[in-house]
Amino acid sequence: MMNWNEEYDVLVVGSGGGGVTGAYTAAREGLTVNLIEATDKFGGTTAYSGGGGVWFPCNPALQRAGTDDTIEDALEYYHAVVGDRTPRELQDTYVRGGGPLIEYLEQDEILKFEMLPWPDYFGKAPKARLDGQRHTMPTPLPVSQAPELREVVRGPLDFDRLGIPQPDDFFIGGRALIARFLKAIEKYPNAKLTLNSPLVELVVEEGAVVGAIVERDGQRVAIRARSGVILAAGGFEANDELRQKFGVPGHARDTMGPGANLGKAHQAAIAVGADTDLMDQAWWSPGLTHPDGRSAFALWFTGGIFVNQDGARFVNESAPYDRLGRDVIAQMEQGTVTLPYWMIYDDKEGERPPVQAPNVSMTATEKYVAAGLWHTADTLEALAEKIRVPSEILVETVARFNKMVENGVDEDFGRGDEAYDRAFSGGEPPLVAIEQGPFHAAAFGISDLGTKGGLRTDTAARVLDTSHNPIPGLYAAGNTMAAPSGTVYPGGGNPIGTSMLFSHLAVQNILS
Ligand code: FAD
Repeated sequence: MMNWNEEYDVLVVGSGGGGVTGAYTAAREGLTVNLIEATDKFGGTTAYSGGGGVWFPCNPALQRAGTDDTIEDALEYYHAVVGDRTPRELQDTYVRGGGPLIEYLEQDEILKFEMLPWPDYFGKAPKARLDGQRHTMPTPLPVSQAPELREVVRGPLDFDRLGIPQPDDFFIGGRALIARFLKAIEKYPNAKLTLNSPLVELVVEEGAVVGAIVERDGQRVAIRARSGVILAAGGFEANDELRQKFGVPGHARDTMGPGANLGKAHQAAIAVGADTDLMDQAWWSPGLTHPDGRSAFALWFTGGIFVNQDGARFVNESAPYDRLGRDVIAQMEQGTVTLPYWMIYDDKEGERPPVQAPNVSMTATEKYVAAGLWHTADTLEALAEKIRVPSEILVETVARFNKMVENGVDEDFGRGDEAYDRAFSGGEPPLVAIEQGPFHAAAFGISDLGTKGGLRTDTAARVLDTSHNPIPGLYAAGNTMAAPSGTVYPGGGNPIGTSMLFSHLAVQNILS
């Protein structure tokens, strides 16, 4: 028998959106709970999210804003885009569960949400919500209301990657979500949050998970969890070995998640018999390549076109980032795109690429130029030479694109056909001619917001074994679980929404 060092009802692993929701729910429901976080900061990738958005149709925050959406419509949309790659009941649980979760959370005056309109990512699917009324964000929190959290909540990204000072006015987006939960949890003495404590393995007795071994100050600490262990430890995007093993394209270098998302929780669960699914999947995006060599999630392009090594366009540049990323990957596999691919743009907005939301701020232009990532020339022919693409094709590509701009329709890739494409150009097709020299090229790669394959669960977040029976005492949420959305990204807010909801449902199951 194990000699336990500590004992709780629930052990939560990880402090992203899922971890804090699970710990909060357990604490509020009167369970003793310990949340363990591997790093010295709370928040994970969730805290890096600029919006902290959740895709929870028909939730009270949306209803306050006057949405006329229905759960039936949201289900029809979700089913249409996800298809049968994941169990229908898991999909339904996700779509139906967000509203009641926000209702539950908002009973706490610290946990506040509001609508942030953001169109669904498949604008042509039945019952897509083009006005964005399925997307909710946490209300910003003045730092003055929780100054002690400023140093312990991860991010912002620019602080971690570029050393740009943290804002001292508001926690916003994912940082607001994490800060609000930490503040809400504070009032429960039955909850304990522990940094610098990575899970290393799970402990099984008589077929049930009864606790875990955690590393703390170089020691192995045995923590008993009388009612359950919830794994909400993110994906394994920072682990190149696992990426390769499971066939996830790209590199840990280019992920947006913090370095600690190494898949230790996945491995611990697999070691006790857990089944997995979707292990080659991630939430994808195009990545603007920065002087440190890392390609980082970028969106909101107000001009420019992407060209491949042949100088030809190959994609709708304004498509939702996951669809765009998947398109690039598919074409890399076919050999029609190699990295880097290039954004070609003119001088209307100056020498920097027309990317309004680089997520990681662009630094000095000279650094990109010195790293061979950005090029400028007076003519398209000279630019083509610099980026080593056939000049006559590049000239032809731009001429054809400019002609389509004149006509207002992208006949080749349908740029501007869907609501999301037009969301950043005032509702107009995002078609801007490339005509005013000098001309520029910026290097792009692919990036991801985390892997989304993981432990197979049922609708109560119980981890299933390879015979698809629940492993008693073991739960998973967010990027540690196999995502209900399968191989697509139905709309902004699915990753954090999935993490929060299934962690909450795990606690509900423990209570039942
Ligand atoms: P995480 O938030 O990554 O949390 C996992 C935590 O577990 C981390 O703190 C990690 O350190 C810890 N951990 C890992 N291993 C261990 C271990 N062995 N022991 C203990 N702890 C461990 N998604 C949305 O839904 N909406 C958005 O608006 C949105 N915007 C985004 C914007 C940006 C710029 C980025 C980068 C991502 C965005 N995403 C968004 C994606 C989203 O942030 C992530 O996919 C999601 O937050 C993952 O949540 P999670 O709880 O599964 O994992």
